[in-house]
Amino acid sequence: MSQKSSNAGPNHGRRKFLQVSGLGLAATAGTGIMTSKALAKVKTNARVVIIGAGAAGLDAANRLSRELDGAQITIIDSRVEHIYQPGLTLVATGLWKASKVMDENARYMPDGIDWIQARVIEFDPETNSVLTDTGQRVAYDYLMVTTGLQVNYSGVEGMSPELIGQMGIGCVYDNPNHATRTWNMIDQFTDVGGVGLFTRPRGPVKCAGAPLKVTMLSEDLLERKGNRDKAQLFYTPPAKGLFSQPEINEFLKEELPSRGISLLWDHPLVGIEPELKRATFETPEGNQTLDYDFIHVVPPMQAPDPLANSPLSWKTGRFAAGGWMEVDQHTLQHPRFQNVFGSGDCVGTPVGKTAASVKAQVPVAVANMVSSIADRELSARYNGYTSCPLVTRKGQALLVEFDYDLKMVPSFPFVNPYEKHWFPWMLKDRMLHAAYNAMLRGRV
Ligand SMILES: Cc1cc2nc3c(=O)[nH]c(=O)nc-3n(C[C@H](O)[C@H](O)[C@H](O)COP(=O)(O)OP(=O)(O)OC[C@H]3O[C@@H](n4cnc5c(N)ncnc54)[C@H](O)[C@@H]3O)c2cc1C
Repeated sequence: MSQKSSNAGPNHGRRKFLQVSGLGLAATAGTGIMTSKALAKVKTNARVVIIGAGAAGLDAANRLSRELDGAQITIIDSRVEHIYQPGLTLVATGLWKASKVMDENARYMPDGIDWIQARVIEFDPETNSVLTDTGQRVAYDYLMVTTGLQVNYSGVEGMSPELIGQMGIGCVYDNPNHATRTWNMIDQFTDVGGVGLFTRPRGPVKCAGAPLKVTMLSEDLLERKGNRDKAQLFYTPPAKGLFSQPEINEFLKEELPSRGISLLWDHPLVGIEPELKRATFETPEGNQTLDYDFIHVVPPMQAPDPLANSPLSWKTGRFAAGGWMEVDQHTLQHPRFQNVFGSGDCVGTPVGKTAASVKAQVPVAVANMVSSIADRELSARYNGYTSCPLVTRKGQALLVEFDYDLKMVPSFPFVNPYEKHWFPWMLKDRMLHAAYNAMLRGRV
């Protein structure tokens, strides 16, 4: 199946005028990790703007600057540090130092692109421009949206990021500082014991495995410290499932209870009273409160406000509530503004929100944008590939890889994806960081 870009939109005339030539890319989907082969650079004087210099934005910037000849490429993000987010669960559970996940965006910026250090506060696809918080209006011919997502602390009444690391409150999300403060709380809790609550909100979150990994690594730490019998642990999913992939869901439904972690179904966290160490859950039987000694708060997540409030977000359907960006789930092109493409955590697709999905999505979004510039068929397809080494203990993990059909698509034939194994742990602990950095350079 292929889709022809109509190049619709108010700037159609200018884009048609762009000098375009070259053969561009051939992209083929294997297990979802796309391989893209540059046949020749596409000559163009298009203005390409990328919003967000995280995992997806840097990968896209490097690929586009290699694959386009003559384009004026701009990336907009005020953030100068780069955080290796997949390492945050290991920081929060005392297995890595925070310094290991800290890096700088400048190291991955390709030569010859403009970096505007600001945040976009308004997306205006009707006029093909964005507005920054420094008052600059930036016009584009093609837009790549890679803003990641926003953690809504206010979605849990009484919660704020300042509370992380105090009064038994942890939250692995957002940055190494939060992860380090979470580790201080988990370290104390696993020394003295008590009641530990591990939460999971409604709606999509980045790395759906992360709340589970924090839970299982905390249990493992209690064991390793010889304090397991001092603690009662509860995992509180918002519905009656633990994971979207059915076989892994079944695995977890056995694994957690077998380790004495009680499952409280239909328990989305809606409030905390930090001084009282009390949490409120919105259950089908009404609001219920539980006292805790440690709580891992995972707030609800959504697309960043400027994107959610823009014409680019889904207006109907299951992704509208989080303001996720509307894209065709296979081509990653916006269906209403066809000079706009998206990838990474910000897009509303049925599966995604991992660095592994970024690795599979960005080559597709870039190949299709380049095809669009060259006025060719959009032939690259994202099949929903996502992956996560689901760490069960220090030294042990499952390698979970699946696609839009929720079918497991294992990359390593010698690793049974349903069995805990040392190899995915070694991938997580030793190898994936280097692969991630190569991805930022658009190399894998
Ligand atoms: C605790 C944790 C554990 C994880 N574990 C794993 C794992 O094991 N495996 C895995 O594959 N993935 C994992 N992930 C997920 C992975 O890190 C993300 O999916 C990935 O970083 C998404 O990339 P992105 O580019 O979409 O977003 P990000 O990397 O978050 O980058 C988004 C960028 O956009 C910028 N931005 C936002 N809004 C604006 C704006 N308005 N204007 C300009 N710039 C803006 C931000 O400053 C940021 O630099 C984990 C994440 C977390 C938090």
